[in-house]
Amino acid sequence: MEAVHIQPCVLDAQCEALRTEVRAFIARELADVPASERAKNWTAVNPAFSRKLGERGWIGMTWPRRFGGSERSSLERYVVMEELLAAGAPVAAHWVADRQSGPLLMRYAPQLAERIVPGIVRGETYFCIGMSEPDSGSDLASIRTRGERTARGWVIHGTKLWTSFAQHCHYMIALVRTERAASGRQAGLSQFLIDLRAPGVQVRPIRNLMGDEDFNIVVLDGVELADECLIGEAGDGWSQVTAELSFERSGPERYLSNTQMVLEMLDAADAGNERQAVALGRIVADYAALRQMSLGVAGMLSRREDAALTAALVKDQGALVEQRIPELAHALFDGRRVAADSDFARVQAYATQASVSYSLRGGTREILRGIIARGLGLR
Ligand SMILES: Cc1cc2nc3c(=O)[nH]c(=O)nc-3n(C[C@H](O)[C@H](O)[C@H](O)COP(=O)(O)OP(=O)(O)OC[C@H]3O[C@@H](n4cnc5c(N)ncnc54)[C@H](O)[C@@H]3O)c2cc1C
Repeated sequence: MEAVHIQPCVLDAQCEALRTEVRAFIARELADVPASERAKNWTAVNPAFSRKLGERGWIGMTWPRRFGGSERSSLERYVVMEELLAAGAPVAAHWVADRQSGPLLMRYAPQLAERIVPGIVRGETYFCIGMSEPDSGSDLASIRTRGERTARGWVIHGTKLWTSFAQHCHYMIALVRTERAASGRQAGLSQFLIDLRAPGVQVRPIRNLMGDEDFNIVVLDGVELADECLIGEAGDGWSQVTAELSFERSGPERYLSNTQMVLEMLDAADAGNERQAVALGRIVADYAALRQMSLGVAGMLSRREDAALTAALVKDQGALVEQRIPELAHALFDGRRVAADSDFARVQAYATQASVSYSLRGGTREILRGIIARGLGLR
């Protein structure tokens, strides 16, 4: 069996100074946001807030200046992200673009990036992820959306499903089959930039368990694309998507989604109650371990190392902790001092319902464990 090596990171004085600045900004900007909204964490959309982050240089922080970025370190970026998540800031509008679409464009489609990435940095241009389809989620290589060459570029036919926040986004990066390759199902896939306002695109929100409309069905009915909308080389989509998933799976959002629930429990805890202290202490210890793992992956990604195994580990372990938090709230506090109309009860209701999706979105538990097992040499 192989070992997993995660290099610990130490946040320096510059990072801690930035943390103070971010906390002051959040205290000012989000003072009136109720606990029930903070519970939504990185799934709340607020373009005005995204633009304010952009004005401060807190989107695309590590990116080159020629794309509008600030060339700050990945650790400084991490500090901004964890402070936003800990406060339950409404960051969903720009989150995907900042986390994965911007880096993908700069790496594989620099000409498109020159035009589009500065808008991401300003907090004005939003992206969604077009991977899953009806009948294709875990088995992503089975997608049926197809791209055919035309005299002027490409035409796309197909349907994407569970596309988070597409109704608020300007662009999708879609994984599309462009060839039936003899060398296996993972060959012949390509990624395209799709303008969601283009003719032939229909975005229809789907209501989730909490009554919110976060994800969507996106129909691509003969969407015509110019040649430049192909990201990277035709047929290289699988390796590009695999690299993108490491960004998607490893960030602090994979263990800090339920922070508001932890804060509510800390507020409600009784002084001297050992059972509560031990249970809450364990969550804090888990946060500390996950933070080091997640920071370690941030370092690997900034060095362009293959982080697929460690990113899967962060997401799998993060989801376990995240899902334990609302269960703990029930076990420690139910039927005792929690009023039905309290912040605690509202946050608990949201966290209980939302948490079931944490081991689905971004890759299911079984799929992640398959990746981990393969990385460890066990299969
Ligand atoms: C809140 C939320 C937001 C999402 N946002 C997006 C988005 O923005 N963009 C996007 O493209 N997708 C998005 N998704 C979709 C998500 O990526 C898929 O739901 C996920 O990959 C699982 O695919 P599926 O739903 O088709 O389930 P399936 O793949 O059908 O899996 C069903 C069950 O079977 C298990 N299973 C499947 N294959 C295997 C196997 N080989 N071995 C063992 N067990 C297996 C799975 O683990 C799971 O438990 C989102 C999902 C959620 C819940």
